[in-house]
Amino acid sequence: MIDEKQISEIVKKVITDMGADQAPKRKQVGVFESMDDAIEACNKAYELFRHYNKEQRENIIKEIRRLTHEEAEIMAKLAVEDTKMGNVYHKILKHHLVADKTPGTEDLTTKALSGDRGLTLIEMAPYGIIGAITPSTNPSCTVICNSIGMLAAGNGVVFNPHPHAKRISAYAVDLVNRAVLAAGGPENIVVTVENPTMDTSNTMVNHPSVRMLVATGGPGVVKMLLSSGKKAIGAGAGNPPVVVDNTADVPKAAKDIIDGCTFDNNLPCIAEKECFVVNEVADELISGMQKNGAYLLNKEQTKQLEEVVLVDMPPKNPGGKAKKVINKDWVGRDAKKILAQIGINVGDDIRCIICETEFSHSFVQTELMMPILAIVRCSTFEEAMEMAVKAEHGNRHTAHLHSKNVDHMTAYAKAVCTTIFVKNAPSYSGIGFNSEGHTTFTIAGPTGEGITSASSFTRQRRCVLVDSLSII
Ligand code: NAD
Repeated sequence: MIDEKQISEIVKKVITDMGADQAPKRKQVGVFESMDDAIEACNKAYELFRHYNKEQRENIIKEIRRLTHEEAEIMAKLAVEDTKMGNVYHKILKHHLVADKTPGTEDLTTKALSGDRGLTLIEMAPYGIIGAITPSTNPSCTVICNSIGMLAAGNGVVFNPHPHAKRISAYAVDLVNRAVLAAGGPENIVVTVENPTMDTSNTMVNHPSVRMLVATGGPGVVKMLLSSGKKAIGAGAGNPPVVVDNTADVPKAAKDIIDGCTFDNNLPCIAEKECFVVNEVADELISGMQKNGAYLLNKEQTKQLEEVVLVDMPPKNPGGKAKKVINKDWVGRDAKKILAQIGINVGDDIRCIICETEFSHSFVQTELMMPILAIVRCSTFEEAMEMAVKAEHGNRHTAHLHSKNVDHMTAYAKAVCTTIFVKNAPSYSGIGFNSEGHTTFTIAGPTGEGITSASSFTRQRRCVLVDSLSII
């Protein structure tokens, strides 16, 4: 006979063992102390996994999707707790988006060439083991999104996550392994280390078993991977401008911009980071933003805010100029908490801080990743577009426009040359949220794969049969 207390203890233990607890007591699957051990385990798993057909891989992916939905809330909470950044509710939505809209094996296609001399097939084959570096801003979403695409393509994956997101990243790696095991796949086909550092990153990048590298993060990591001498995909920083012209549905534009800019406290690399509006509709836009949870700062308050969210980086060379960089303590924080730092206390309805600035202001030029939006008034659409192109800094990442003028849409798209260009919607529509198209958390602008998916993680192989199997 067991009493109620014993039953509740058993249930608690089972939940913990299943990993549905935020800090599982059991050893997490795929999480190693040393990078060398992690890669060795992944190598062993890959020797089995390379014989799995698409149907078997798809079964694994189905299970990853299921567990991601099931544990979205746990991961969202843990991500905010671990990184001290972002918004739990929005992170829940992001996990569901990853589970629903990251392509699986259906993304892999074969090209066939047939003719008088036979049949040639060009197939999408795995690379082998991929080394992936992931950011602190979307930690578990990137691990799960990369895992779905890379496993669908038949690869194994070694992650070196951001050190400030190591707990949540390890949780996601464990989740993927639980899914793989439940679907009959090999243990450790996705691995990571408990304590990721620059050293573990170097070991991963230089390991001969790691055939391809994928970096999702700022310019430093992309540059490092692209100099590795291996095939690399780089998904780097953005500073997405949004332009509003005089043909826009201004009240809708105001709401869309604030919705996009505040999503997960502005952590997404695609989120609106600065706004260029033509004079004619500027007042209406700003008052529309205020109606949608924006707090407008005056000049003096803007100056005070600069002192909080930016810090001086000493010059690299003697005699050089100090540079303003973001104060990481405020990245991804709530607008309300940021405002409190300059003595402004507001209610929960305030979700964004807006201010009018010059084009050269640091809030325009710097990728803040905070719910702060600098607004620059422009005399014409052409001036707004020119400034937006400059503020994007050639990242080729993301740009936004609110307009009903097709010529403006075309001209801006051509001039800014970004991977993602969203019109008349919040920025998150660019990654398939309430819009058509698949999602990714690795947007490869610098290396050109764009909205990455399983096919991005493949190598082409040609299979030739001469004078046979062409049946006409
Ligand atoms: P980050 O660049 O600080 O870190 C990203 C990853 O790279 C981490 O794992 C970090 O440990 C590692 N890293 C950083 N510099 C490195 C170096 N020199 N050598 C080796 N590893 C290095 O970025 P973050 O703060 O976590 O994320 C925010 C940045 O990432 C923003 O710039 C954002 O725009 C960008 N981002 C881009 C995408 C995309 O899909 N293009 C997605 C998410 C984030």
